[in-house]
Amino acid sequence: MARLAYVDGRYVAHNAASVHVEDRGFQFSDGVYEVISIVGRRLIDMEGHLDRLERSLKALDMPEPVSRPVLAMIMRELVTRNRVREGIIYLQVTRGVAPRDHKFPAGLKPTLVMTTKHVDFLNQKRLSDGVKVISIPDIRWGRCDIKAVALLPNCMGKTQAASAGAYEAWQVDTEGFVTEGTSSNAWILTRDNVLKTRGLGPDILRGVTRDSLMRIAAEEGVTVVEEAFTVEEARDAREAFVTSATSFLTPVVKIDDRVIGNGAPGSLSCRLQRWYIDYCTGVRGNG
Ligand code: PMP
Repeated sequence: MARLAYVDGRYVAHNAASVHVEDRGFQFSDGVYEVISIVGRRLIDMEGHLDRLERSLKALDMPEPVSRPVLAMIMRELVTRNRVREGIIYLQVTRGVAPRDHKFPAGLKPTLVMTTKHVDFLNQKRLSDGVKVISIPDIRWGRCDIKAVALLPNCMGKTQAASAGAYEAWQVDTEGFVTEGTSSNAWILTRDNVLKTRGLGPDILRGVTRDSLMRIAAEEGVTVVEEAFTVEEARDAREAFVTSATSFLTPVVKIDDRVIGNGAPGSLSCRLQRWYIDYCTGVRGNG
């Protein structure tokens, strides 16, 4: 069966799926998106992702393309039609099609697009071996809490990381504090054994994986401090890791040229990762 995409009410062949050249997503990056992982055919944290989608749409004064139950129904239908057992579903909403003009035109019909991809996440070596990250200046805009499709700085950062043989780039604000990765949230276990991740605000995306991990950590009696940390503190940390829907909890074993801990994933990172994966696979319930 050919891979399908969903475009504005129709399931179409993935390689023929397209939107209009005057779609504002194409012209202005005037759109928002979500990426949800699929583990054992289950969409992980779908409600959290739909909550964030609603927040992003509201922040940009964009209407919902369809109601939430219909959105959930289309997502499930596409995953079923494409027989995705392990992978992701990508969902994008743009303001719609209109003659090119910077001002938001009133009354547009939003464009809704979804695609899926097969990825065998849980068997990736980086989950067990850990990864390297580099640090780069954060050159993004002032509303990183909105999951907008305008990802050029993130793409540049990720490309720079790949050129340096790293998995991710941690972006650093003008005061020397790490904001987040280009497509993940950043965490460290400090020298003094404090598990830290930056607090919510306009300078980071509120990761759905971050939310779930904080809940799981609390259930397990692990304290998380939502506080910014400097890149120096990170290089000096006992442990470090990133979280996102597609990297789950990926340990960090090197930051720039500094080896973290003994160069292997730290023990708290491994425990948190196990709990999070158990949550995704349903071993822990409500994944
Ligand atoms: N920060 C950024 C900039 C991201 O792109 C992502 C991935 N969507 C995240 C954090 C992590 O978010 P989530 O856990 O919802 O995937």
